[in-house]
Amino acid sequence: MNVNQSAPPVPPFGQPQPVYLGHHQSSYGGQPGSTTAPTSYGAYNGPVPGYQQTPPPGVSRAPPSSGAPPASTAQGPCGQTAYGQFGQGDVQNGPSSTVQMQRLPGYQPFGSAILAPVVSQPAVLQPYGPPPTSAQVTAQLAGMQISGTVAPASPPSGLGYGPPTSLASASGSFPNSGLYGSYPQGQAPPLGQAQGHPGTQPPQRSVPLQASSFTPPASGGPRMPSMTGPLLPGQSFGGPPVSQPNHVSSPAPQALPPGTQMTGPPGPPLPPMHSSQQPGYQLQQNGSFGPTRGPQSNYGSPYPGAAAFGSQPGPPQPLPAKRLDPDAIPSPIQVIEDDRNNRGSEPFVTGVRGQVPPLVTTNFLVKDQGNASPRYIRCTSYNIPCTSDMAKQAQVPLAAVIKPLARLPPEEASPYVVDHGESGPLRCNRCKAYMCPFMQFVEGGRRFQCCFCSCINDVPPQYFQHLDHTGKRVDAYDRPELSLGSYEFLATVDYCKNNKFPSPPAFIFMIDVSYNAIRSGLVRLLCEELKSLLDFLPREGRAEESAIRVGFVTYNKVLHFYNVKSSLAQPQMMVVSDVGDMFVPLLDGFLVNVNESQAVITSLLDQIPEMFADTRETETVFAPVIQAGMEALKAAECAGKLFLFHTSLPIAEAPGKLKNRDDRKLINTDKEKTLFQPQTGAYQTLAKECVAQGCCVDLFLFPNQYVDVATLSVVPQLTGGSVYKYACFQVENDQERFLSDLRRDVQKVVGFDAVMRVRTSTGIRAVDFFGAFYMNNTTDVELAGLDGDKTVTVEFKHDDRLNEENGALLQCALLYTSCAGQRRLRIHNLALNCCTQLADLYRNCETDTLINYMAKFAYRGVLSSPVKTVRDTLITQCAQILACYRKNCASPSSAGQLILPECMKLLPVYLNCVLKSDVLQPGAEVTTDDRAYVRQLVTSMDVAETNVFFYPRLLPLTKSPIENTTEPPAVRASEERLSNGDIYLLENGLNLFLWVGASVQQGVVQSLFGVSSFSQITSGLSVLPVLDNLLSKKVQGLIDSLRAQRSRYMKLIVVKQEDKLETLFKHFLVEDKSLSGGASYVDFLCHMHKEIRQLLS
Ligand SMILES: [Zn+2]
Repeated sequence: MNVNQSAPPVPPFGQPQPVYLGHHQSSYGGQPGSTTAPTSYGAYNGPVPGYQQTPPPGVSRAPPSSGAPPASTAQGPCGQTAYGQFGQGDVQNGPSSTVQMQRLPGYQPFGSAILAPVVSQPAVLQPYGPPPTSAQVTAQLAGMQISGTVAPASPPSGLGYGPPTSLASASGSFPNSGLYGSYPQGQAPPLGQAQGHPGTQPPQRSVPLQASSFTPPASGGPRMPSMTGPLLPGQSFGGPPVSQPNHVSSPAPQALPPGTQMTGPPGPPLPPMHSSQQPGYQLQQNGSFGPTRGPQSNYGSPYPGAAAFGSQPGPPQPLPAKRLDPDAIPSPIQVIEDDRNNRGSEPFVTGVRGQVPPLVTTNFLVKDQGNASPRYIRCTSYNIPCTSDMAKQAQVPLAAVIKPLARLPPEEASPYVVDHGESGPLRCNRCKAYMCPFMQFVEGGRRFQCCFCSCINDVPPQYFQHLDHTGKRVDAYDRPELSLGSYEFLATVDYCKNNKFPSPPAFIFMIDVSYNAIRSGLVRLLCEELKSLLDFLPREGRAEESAIRVGFVTYNKVLHFYNVKSSLAQPQMMVVSDVGDMFVPLLDGFLVNVNESQAVITSLLDQIPEMFADTRETETVFAPVIQAGMEALKAAECAGKLFLFHTSLPIAEAPGKLKNRDDRKLINTDKEKTLFQPQTGAYQTLAKECVAQGCCVDLFLFPNQYVDVATLSVVPQLTGGSVYKYACFQVENDQERFLSDLRRDVQKVVGFDAVMRVRTSTGIRAVDFFGAFYMNNTTDVELAGLDGDKTVTVEFKHDDRLNEENGALLQCALLYTSCAGQRRLRIHNLALNCCTQLADLYRNCETDTLINYMAKFAYRGVLSSPVKTVRDTLITQCAQILACYRKNCASPSSAGQLILPECMKLLPVYLNCVLKSDVLQPGAEVTTDDRAYVRQLVTSMDVAETNVFFYPRLLPLTKSPIENTTEPPAVRASEERLSNGDIYLLENGLNLFLWVGASVQQGVVQSLFGVSSFSQITSGLSVLPVLDNLLSKKVQGLIDSLRAQRSRYMKLIVVKQEDKLETLFKHFLVEDKSLSGGASYVDFLCHMHKEIRQLLS
């Protein structure tokens, strides 16, 4: 039971254990001469029939033809249209149509016409500095030019920036919430640099034209309350960010090796290419390029808005204000594409310490050579500062996002299972760390030194092996625990509760049969589905049948238990109406083997919808239902999972009774946090009991109105369970989504009754944890259940000095019960580098993981702090991170430059997406339940999920040739990127939209929708007709493929341009200003620059 238990001494270990069938692997570790035969090892998680994602054969998909009342009878908040059906609660009940996001006139010219110095293009960076991997990015933003050293020049008239007054107003008033608020429409509109130069395609390195006439995009930037310095109007100069590795103070003749930092004196001006190629603009370039500091005096105005470019004899400026060119700021799409191109072809081999893995958006294979795959562990940084002082200075959170039971692609082998027999796994006597590749064998192999605590331990005789001349055990490659980053140990009885090997787990299905559940058709649909789904419960390896037993309960105000013993001709019902003192009325016959009781179970599932068909009972209980399931598992002495299907706020008189306390007026007040907190402590107490029993709770909600998700999700959250939410559920609209989620949820691999411990080498330790679990002390993460989708995020702090030579080690040990009832330990090891130079830290960070951590940190923060405070904290931290870099790592350059570390250049855009997410800045259409729901979802998300959740993927469907079947390259999530002659898919892991431009060719409309014109397309459509043509098949195929990549089914919503549903869609165009007041990317970047500058001044 306890991960820390020390193993009892001795007996011989049985190295090869043919016990777990699964992935056949002829010789792991690439060692042809392996002496043992590991072929039969492996395979937890292996591709086994029981886990397949495909729906069970013979399942009836059709909604019941009788029974379910017509959907149209749904009333109330759900009557409304597709909004009500929308998404996983992210945005349901959307705004009622009148709000239309305005397309700013200025935006249009942007996309294509204007030159775009692309910050991140490696090709661009090449000649000037280090290769992109280590290059930094210089972005020179409008609005950044504050502290120049040169006397201001007066602005020439006609140059075109707005007068201070207008700039001031542009400088970000955020009326709502005092934070972001919305920018006045039309303010700081993008200016059309393009306008004067249509079609101009300057060389990539060029600075955007007319930098001098930019209107402070910054001025439009969000002004944070925390800002103390004066916000200078119009201090927004400098022109767009430049594609320049900022480390280079002088034009480097060749690419520098990664990490090289040139700090020499300012070199000669940039190569003349710009000016020669862009006559007329050369003068502005000076200011835009970091390295060329000589001529920068022009920008050094203390009154930047006014003087910065004043003396520039630039070309006539056609417009009074210029906006930062969105093409010139770091693009997520470009970064993702570059990483795919650079790192997608080779496998990621884990043998090297501190290696930053490819991005989560890159497809790559992993070869385990001693460190855990990034599928199991991703870190915010792979190079940790040696001292806490350095860490504090940098403010970069040190965290690992761990997914211990991650599913692997079929090409990768599941961890081997090592059986050491009765002696159990070998561990350090002092810190209890498990044997791993980093343990150092000494004294000819008779002892080993612990790599975590340095303790010298004896090697038990049966584990002894000689060392080779390098000091390595000669059997190192024959033993997973000596050569691999991830592996499993069979646990001995010492690791089991009550010193008894566990029984196989059980699943209990608990179905709300109150009026709403019956009326929506849910009960009938669910019962029908379960008849076949139960044949696909998780199995161990190639076991013929699942060891999991099942039980059934239905409930409204009272609970009905069913005896489905195989010997019965018909199921028997037992009613428990004393919900205040829950007990399980039967033991024998409640939890049964599916095969043995097939007939009785089928009969029960046939009868349930009929039995309650005429119910008028609208009230439900909730806590007693969980209590009953937990008691049943306790009585059966096993762990397991409860699947709860629930429809309404539990207002019936019973423990855990809730009241409707929804109050949107609390938003933006100090009491807003109460919306995220449970309204009673009863559920925490209940959850604790569940965890002790290994009872995990998965909750499927089907609310027609407020159900208090914040309270109902407490038990799932603390027991490692999942919550699904189908607002205003109607069979015909939602059955596909619900059934897909249900099938996946029931079939997925789960580790039960689990305890996770993360050990670290001396110098750092795990101090904080995020995810769906319970903690009774400061170190052990208890998970009643843990599935392959869930992550636990761990934050580390220094408690001593680290050193570069030894690096830092993490070992995550998960003790759990498999679905067949076997007790196992899964071990993941990861070695990180340590540094004494901050630059090394900044070169080895992973922004996607940072964002995952920061989002979780913030989403937990809203439980205890005002949301505004949480947002400010995020912004401040981000500014500190970037300011520290600027101060310590970047070469000296103009204050007007925003300089971002190469691997963090997306931090601002992604952070902005977090800040304007529904939890931290809800739109008017987002319900309290939606926010609570999303909050808890994000808590367990892995890095890939948060990445696409916060920055959705937008795929043009009609741009590439129709024969081209590969996934089209994404475009940036901004309205500017939409062309009204095209069709796009947008997905964020929960939602899926198909946006149709108003001028799409008729042929395309016909091919895809089977109608003859745009106007005939049904807005809000959720299923595309299956048509026999290439385009239709391609789009359907793409939709299927996107769905297959995500852990939850994404329901499609067709949105027509200019239709009212478009408002909802635009909510996901995260680079744009949001209706709820969230800043645009450009504005936020400018704001971030201000914050940084303030920190530096
Ligand atoms: Zn130790």
